[in-house]
Amino acid sequence: MKNPYRHTKIIFTIGPSTESDEMLEKMIEGGVNICRINMAHASHDWTRDTVNRIRMISQKIGREIAIMMDIKGPEIRTCALDEPIQLKKGMRVDLSTEENCPYQDEDGLLAIGVNYTSLIEDLKKGNQVHVDNGLLKFEVIGKTDKRIQCEVLIGGELTSRRHINLPGVKVKLPAITKKDRTDVEVGTELKVDQFALSFVREATDVKILREHMNKVGSKARIIAKIEDQSAISNLEEIIEASDGIMIARGDLGIECPYEELPIIQRSTIKKCLEMGKRVIVATHMLESMIKHPVPTRAEITDVSNAVFEQADCIMLSGETTIGKYPLECVQVFERIALRIEKSGAANYAEGRRLTGPKTMLLRTAKILAEEMGDTQIVVFTKTGRFGEIMASLRCKVPIYTFTDRIEILRYLVTLWGIEPFLMDFCEEDRGKTITNAFAILKKKGWVEKGQPLVMITDIRAEDRLVDTLQIRYID
Ligand code: PEP
Repeated sequence: MKNPYRHTKIIFTIGPSTESDEMLEKMIEGGVNICRINMAHASHDWTRDTVNRIRMISQKIGREIAIMMDIKGPEIRTCALDEPIQLKKGMRVDLSTEENCPYQDEDGLLAIGVNYTSLIEDLKKGNQVHVDNGLLKFEVIGKTDKRIQCEVLIGGELTSRRHINLPGVKVKLPAITKKDRTDVEVGTELKVDQFALSFVREATDVKILREHMNKVGSKARIIAKIEDQSAISNLEEIIEASDGIMIARGDLGIECPYEELPIIQRSTIKKCLEMGKRVIVATHMLESMIKHPVPTRAEITDVSNAVFEQADCIMLSGETTIGKYPLECVQVFERIALRIEKSGAANYAEGRRLTGPKTMLLRTAKILAEEMGDTQIVVFTKTGRFGEIMASLRCKVPIYTFTDRIEILRYLVTLWGIEPFLMDFCEEDRGKTITNAFAILKKKGWVEKGQPLVMITDIRAEDRLVDTLQIRYID
């Protein structure tokens, strides 16, 4: 099994290309850290079977990965069509929320149905309507009380139930749908580690999901997907309310002018790092590898950029759901990450807002370890909090993090620069916990005799537990 120290974590989306036991084993051994299940395409039975198999395979090969359930959120779609409709540039086409769509009125004008009841209210002249990932584009030229009148700007074939984006329009969709709620219930039953929430527009959306998770007893973390302009406007409050952010560049690239995308990516990563929250860069990272075994030069540079900006995770979507080369994609991610991590970084974590003395103690550990040079950090954590803070500081040296709870281990695997280990803690003899941890590191080949370690742990001083920062050497 490969075991290089990589700071950047890899997410793959599971699908037909990767769902077999054999492929899952190869993907996990190949170095993925998180499996994303996209509930836009997954049934509950399939999800149950898949999560159980992932847990079994991870246990069999001794490498844990986290599971992220990506819930779809509300979606605006065109109506069902018996046959595709050809739309030509310059043509007039109307959008309507009436039940009987599609239909042609007495003037021969075509009305296409849309499932969003506030459409007529929300859209105004000059707004753009992007259909099917922007393959078709309309401009609103007027409206009646029943229809939105549009001109086709980019024509093409319209097929059934296509996704609609309304760039810059403040829509009144609920945060989560009935389907999302049942998906969360299934995720809770399966103890998934994270829920990714699509189309978060404000902090309240995250709070609504959190309330539902509390109701059904989930302790999973929430990743807010940033996909439209409202999310950008409310970014700081969304970061504050959630456990992490996904820069979902697919929809974001339609909802915002695409030349803004690199700026949004950079400023979102910077803000997340300043606020000590996790951040994922997603979508189209190795898109050409859906069909080809090697990435384009532009893709290599895009992945490098996310690694240089020190995103916690880089994500594969279509590349590993339907792609022909899922394993090769993981290898490409790994090669680029390992190389770029050595080449410098944007260092946005220098602006990390430090809160409380524990955070400051951990930053002191980072400074000490980096100044000592050839050293590594050891952290013990029951809740994951120390690991989380250590990751947020973006240390140049490896951070070995020990926990005694499997669900915390699965959280730690998602964090930048953290190599986690599961081990029972010896409450009555903290010295023994440390000796055991060092033995594990030595046995697994992470350290050798004489290796200096900077360690953060609490020790008993008379009747109290005191946080300490120590320099230790492997015997
Ligand atoms: C995206 O739009 O980039 C994304 C990750 O979301 P989804 O795949 O759910 O559309």
